Amino acid sequence: MARTTDSPVAVEAAPDVPSPRATTRRLASRLDLVQESATLEVTRRAAELRARGVEVVDLGAGEPDFPSPPAAVEAAQRALAEGFTRYTVAAGIPQLRAALAARYARLGAPWTPQQVVVTMGAKAALFELALALFEPGDEVVIPAPFWVTFPAQVRVAGAEPVLVPMRPADGFRLRAEPLIEAFSPRTRAVVLNSPCNPTGGTISAAELETLVAAAAERGILVVSDETYDSFVYDGDRHASAAGLAARFPETVVLVGSFSKTWAMTGWRLGWLLGPDWVVDGAVRVQGHATSNATSFAMVGALAALDEPEAAMAARLAEYQARRDLVAACLSAIPGVVCRPPAGAFYAFPDVSAYFAAGETGSLPLVRHLLDEARVAVVPGEAFGAPAHLRLSFACSRETLAEGLDRMAEALHARGRRSG
Ligand code: PMP
Ligand code: GLU
Repeated sequence: MARTTDSPVAVEAAPDVPSPRATTRRLASRLDLVQESATLEVTRRAAELRARGVEVVDLGAGEPDFPSPPAAVEAAQRALAEGFTRYTVAAGIPQLRAALAARYARLGAPWTPQQVVVTMGAKAALFELALALFEPGDEVVIPAPFWVTFPAQVRVAGAEPVLVPMRPADGFRLRAEPLIEAFSPRTRAVVLNSPCNPTGGTISAAELETLVAAAAERGILVVSDETYDSFVYDGDRHASAAGLAARFPETVVLVGSFSKTWAMTGWRLGWLLGPDWVVDGAVRVQGHATSNATSFAMVGALAALDEPEAAMAARLAEYQARRDLVAACLSAIPGVVCRPPAGAFYAFPDVSAYFAAGETGSLPLVRHLLDEARVAVVPGEAFGAPAHLRLSFACSRETLAEGLDRMAEALHARGRRSG
């Protein structure tokens, strides 16, 4: 048998071997239900424009512009230099699991370190929960507007998202009653996100308690995504579901992230805590999906948790100033309706006054803003609220002022819909 000299595995095909068929270009049907993440698409399109030399003001993806805490960077570098570069147990290094359990014990939660899973971002935590808990026939209640990924993950798991609208008039405050009304015998869980991406809406401690108690009564899980728990404005306090976990230990599942609070998006680190059986399920999925989160990144994250409180307080003061700036600039644009967001770092104005005839969503307007004004924002359709668009204020006040100026000018030039 002849062999080519530069490739030891290349062999001549025997004459009686049929020629290979073209691969069937077919994706699994579950992907029919899922589009590219709209938030990541905006980032990609803005990056493409930049690569072509076009200067874009990116108010698209929610990504803090602050550096990660220096102590976290140093600790991760040290771990790397010292050779902490191997697999760890799937659920994460014990010190970090203990530190996260302690963080929630301060709020009265009963979770032990064994009830903590360190994940590759909150996104992976939510995905593992979806795969471990939801299946065809299940319904998952989600307040709308919602972060794009919640319904997508539920659908990938074969279950059905039940989207329950909150009210724009009160800044999309998260309310228990309409969520409870949406519960059915098929409801498996409610996915709550306070403060909310994209609206900034929050839930009060009283409403949260009503919701968790009603869910507990019906054997429904409350998956509380508290990725933005450090971003609450005007001196308000975040109401965490962790505070109810002692009373409702079989109901509360908590998800969090290092991405936003400590500006560590690229580190890909998040966590989940909950009842033993839920944690076991998530770890089983993680064991086959990612194994552990990155070893030395977890060591850095441990240092981030130890950051003095004053550091986040200083960042929060800056976010508050940005929030105030965005809210003021947006409400100064005639016809744009924007309530100051109570939390997170997104503004979610109603821009339908600027839709052209026949337009029913903000996507054409968002494309126009990117192409004409070079401002990247995310269309409201992605979040289940087509009259709106989302802009992130996790960037400098100069960038924001420039982006909002361009936006105001482009809207003015486009003109308001008559009538
Ligand atoms: N939940 C919400 C509500 C988000 O906005 C995001 C996006 N940052 C995530 C979870 C995922 O964050 P990460 O995977 O970066 O931890
Ligand atoms: N969560 C952020 C956003 O909504 C980051 C992008 C993503 O993970 O979706 O923009």
